[in-house]
Amino acid sequence: MNKILNTILITGASRGLGANFAKVLANDGFKIIGVSRNKNELEKVINSLPNQTLNHDFIELDITNDQDVQTKLKHLNLYGLINNAGIANTKLLHEETNYDLSKIIDVNLMGSLNVSRIVIPNMIKNQNGKIINIASTLGYRPLPFVGAYSATKAALIQVTKSQSIELARYNITVNALAPGYILTDINREQLEGTAGDILKKKIPLKRFASVSELNPIISMLLNRDNTYMTGAVIAVDGGLSTSL
Ligand code: NAD
Repeated sequence: MNKILNTILITGASRGLGANFAKVLANDGFKIIGVSRNKNELEKVINSLPNQTLNHDFIELDITNDQDVQTKLKHLNLYGLINNAGIANTKLLHEETNYDLSKIIDVNLMGSLNVSRIVIPNMIKNQNGKIINIASTLGYRPLPFVGAYSATKAALIQVTKSQSIELARYNITVNALAPGYILTDINREQLEGTAGDILKKKIPLKRFASVSELNPIISMLLNRDNTYMTGAVIAVDGGLSTSL
């Protein structure tokens, strides 16, 4: 395959971390295709990216709808995929209903698997690909009230490791980025209250991250020269996962 692959698909690109990853990677010269359920927000993000001559694009899609994922993503020939879309809830595990649990597993785990499953065959044909799964510190160091979320992120870390082994023979690398706490819509309610103040004290750097503190890491993960890193889980968490 002689054609230089240059397209990165980012799920959950309409806001938060995903929108920022899109900006950073567009600035690095990649064509971005953003995916989200919210067409209006997504379109705005895509239209404001740097390097518009690369024809950045967006696809309105709920990643839990496997039929739609197949129809809308099957044709894509990607350089990279960032499985970033995710949801959270705050409940004790034994108070989660079957519906709550199915919903969070469906987005955070099944949704990521749905998207990977459909783009991997072309990556195999190209003998090239970079998959980044956005996990979380909570995937290996849980806290109360986020047990369901933590379980989905632990599973995503395991998926990352399993797929890194399965896909290595095709020159496809699979890594996970595990951020600590960054104030976005997913956790605003939790972090802006007293729970947030308690949490901050546990973080060795004594503050939450800003979204832009992930910029050098996402650039490095998708860098063309980053060819030997696979199966890694990169923590960017102000020391949270290292401290007691
Ligand atoms: P956010 O709520 O701001 O953004 C989530 C994005 O995912 C949105 O664009 C939303 O539309 C999209 N999304 C949700 N469900 C979807 C679905 N079914 N189909 C398609 N798109 C869907 O949250 P964020 O903080 O930007 O989180 C992004 C990722 O980073 C998540 O996977 C989250 O678990 C992870 N993460 C966030 C933090 C943090 O502190 N913010 C820390 C660790 C990990």
